[in-house]
Amino acid sequence: MDVKRMIRTSGKPVGKNDIEGQPVCEVLCQGCRKKIRSDSDLRRVGYVKTKSGRDLFFHTDCMSEVWKQGVF
Ligand SMILES: [Zn+2]
Repeated sequence: MDVKRMIRTSGKPVGKNDIEGQPVCEVLCQGCRKKIRSDSDLRRVGYVKTKSGRDLFFHTDCMSEVWKQGVF
């Protein structure tokens, strides 16, 4: 799963390019509500698509918080 590509697809451009020359986009972690940028360390970022078709991003550390909200 390519989280970086998903962030670029559904995120908001921040107006910068990353080291690959690709536009940097950001999304909100659904657990802590902090920003996740496509040029940050994405090894600890997860992504799901809900039944209603929404794209959700979260830090893996925040997953239990996301789970509690019942958004899946
Ligand atoms: Zn988080």
